[in-house]
Amino acid sequence: MTTATPDLSPVRVRFAPSPTGLLHVGGARTALFNWLLAHGETRRHGGEGAFILRIEDTDRNRYVEGAEEGILDILRWFGLEWDEGPDVGGPVGPYRQSERTDLYRQHADALLESGHAYRCFCTPERLQRVREEQQARKEAPGYDRQCRDLTPEQLAANLEAGRPFSIRFRMPLDGETHVVDLLRGEIAFQNANLEDLILLKSDGYPTYHLANVVDDHLMRISHILRGEEWIPTAPIHVRLYDAFGWEPPAFAHMPLILAPGGGKLSKRHGSTAMEEFRAQGYLPEALMNYLALLGWSFDGTTEMFARDDLLEKFTLGRVNPSPGTFDYAKLRWFNQQYINHVLTVDDVTLRVMPFLAEAGLIGPGPFDRQHPDFARVQPVAALLKDRLETLTEAPDLMDYFLRPDLAPYDPALLIPKKMTRGETLTALEVVASMLPRVDLEAEEATEARFRALADELGLKAGSLFMPVRVAVTGRTQSPGLFETLRAIGAERVRQRIDEAIVLLRDWTPEDELATAAQAGD
Ligand code: GLU
Repeated sequence: MTTATPDLSPVRVRFAPSPTGLLHVGGARTALFNWLLAHGETRRHGGEGAFILRIEDTDRNRYVEGAEEGILDILRWFGLEWDEGPDVGGPVGPYRQSERTDLYRQHADALLESGHAYRCFCTPERLQRVREEQQARKEAPGYDRQCRDLTPEQLAANLEAGRPFSIRFRMPLDGETHVVDLLRGEIAFQNANLEDLILLKSDGYPTYHLANVVDDHLMRISHILRGEEWIPTAPIHVRLYDAFGWEPPAFAHMPLILAPGGGKLSKRHGSTAMEEFRAQGYLPEALMNYLALLGWSFDGTTEMFARDDLLEKFTLGRVNPSPGTFDYAKLRWFNQQYINHVLTVDDVTLRVMPFLAEAGLIGPGPFDRQHPDFARVQPVAALLKDRLETLTEAPDLMDYFLRPDLAPYDPALLIPKKMTRGETLTALEVVASMLPRVDLEAEEATEARFRALADELGLKAGSLFMPVRVAVTGRTQSPGLFETLRAIGAERVRQRIDEAIVLLRDWTPEDELATAAQAGD
């Protein structure tokens, strides 16, 4: 019997975003699985695992200023850390493709030299015409290989005339190319269906295909984990490795993420970018947990996986290649679970503070335990943590606890059903006179006194509690009245009840106004 020895050759993976905008959740999941393979599965087995961040910024038309910084920032927020990258450097840098253009040119030249690539002098106008003709004939679009077999004389004439050229890959015209995908097995492609793709554009910039293959090789990438949308071009990449005489890395294409009703997940269905979810009060923990399960499962039933659990349990072998559907409600559920049951009160406090500051309820950051408002927010967070589904709900829920004065409210709310304005006023006045003798910190004793008072006034407890609740919160719903009073504090409670009394005294209800108007007719 043989014992399987784990393969301990270094695992080097990369996440290679293009700085074209915000980070899509699909991209974040790809980054996550790469990181988990290197830092989780590999290191767990005693292997060397490195997670590399590479910025693929050679498509200058799609380049968005500031997008690279944004991607780094959101990846850090998400909880991933990379061993090599544009900001931290590393042994095989630079890690920004725009700084490696000489390398791509050299490699394109090498392929020209070896006959695996050729110069294409076709003008954009000609290519456009070819496309239109193909469309008219209902043929698949693609380059017609006009320049593939130029005679040495034609080539020389073009070069002499100084015509701009791109460099195209010379794909075999027949036979098959096989791509081995770790999740799907071997996929066969007919070479006849594959194009002679451009490797180097006439402006000297490489296309994704050339830069990606050259870098994955030079950066010694062992496993390529990327989105399923790259499967169609994978055979061309395999051929490129071959043409260079290089061993290709292992490939694993991550499953598609579908929209709730089917189809590709896009803006139409709701938020798709990590930055949007962050702004909407989602926790990185919830997104990580949710995105991990969108394609991977441990035992098919366990749902809660914190970052450390994922590092401990993730295996690439349990990534399912069939598409997953993005479920907004489920993500929200995870978010709620983390806020209600996983984060500590202090942690929730710190996470809601930026949202409270934005709403003007507390002072500006930095948000740490030394923030002047931390001590004031913390007991409120303790009280409301279990009602929060997202952090953005905090400003509304915490509003009346944190602001000195209540937002204006309708005095009619103070009057419980089956009670008159006069009765309500009396009840509030009695409460006001009792308050100086009540210790709000002792919730149970306070409640007992309020209940006794209701008895004395011949009121149901609820009929006494409601006007008090509205007086101190401006709303008919709040957490338990006595914990609410305690969190708001004696001074503000007294002040708000006094204000409610004045409000109710000065107030003329709509129907009284109507009656008066009728009487005057
Ligand atoms: N820059 C490519 C992208 O943005 C990377 C694809 C790959 O990982 O090979 O999707």
